[in-house]
Amino acid sequence: MDIIKIYELFPTEDDCISHLEGVRWNNTPKCPYCKSANATPLPKERRHHCNNCNTSFSVTVGTIFHHTHLPLQKWFLATTLILNAKKGISARQLSRDLHVTKDTAWRISMKIRDAMREREHRDLLTGIVEVDETYIGGKPRKGTGTHKRGRGTSKTPVVGMVERRGKIKAEVMGKKKLNSKNLKSLIRRNVDITNTTLITDEYKGYIGIKQIMPHKVVDHTVWYVDGDAHTNTIESFWALLKRGIVGQFHKVSLHYLPRYIDEFCYRCNHRFNDDLFSLTIQRGLGV
Ligand SMILES: [Zn+2]
Repeated sequence: MDIIKIYELFPTEDDCISHLEGVRWNNTPKCPYCKSANATPLPKERRHHCNNCNTSFSVTVGTIFHHTHLPLQKWFLATTLILNAKKGISARQLSRDLHVTKDTAWRISMKIRDAMREREHRDLLTGIVEVDETYIGGKPRKGTGTHKRGRGTSKTPVVGMVERRGKIKAEVMGKKKLNSKNLKSLIRRNVDITNTTLITDEYKGYIGIKQIMPHKVVDHTVWYVDGDAHTNTIESFWALLKRGIVGQFHKVSLHYLPRYIDEFCYRCNHRFNDDLFSLTIQRGLGV
């Protein structure tokens, strides 16, 4: 969905509210406090009065769009900008595009990222699954010397798993070590070990995986790809994520890292959905 189309479809606040009411209630308003459908419209305020619990409510109560004085059209435009930004969009850029402060831009982009959290985390990956680890982190503090990379540095380990021609998942390991025990438990949680061939690099943490499932190791010292035994899919995902994080978000704190990663997985996993805007709005409403 492009930005002009959103602008044309939802020119006014009223249009946005009607759209949200349709998606959330199928046009029969239901009180979010007591769940009663016995409500009277208050058309002037675009709210409803609940005749059961005697409160008034709007369609945004209890959703990511609530408690905001921002016009809904800006929410819709922000959602579109974030969905369309393959490499992510910074709060600074969003604030310029939407004419809002940087703080507002940051707050709404975090809310929209909440809606982009994957709910299908429980589905196990199957078939040929590439697993690879990477390290993401802030630059070293001044005076601490060289820019080290990878294992053995203070950067945060992230493990990605991708089903060939399927879904991708990535988990921030935080303070957890990338040892055989932690990697095995991560793989058991995310991969159908009875029905999968795992492909990884030669990292020693994967030694022992063969005991629980078929496992192929990629030899990165050779330049050719040996049949299925490559990790190119997950490596291109890391490239995109890193360009996004370095280029757009600069320093992402460990606390927010999982949300940025979820955002990148979401765009990737729904790349064939031609109406991702609607899905994201639905999720934002909790439908
Ligand atoms: Zn009520």
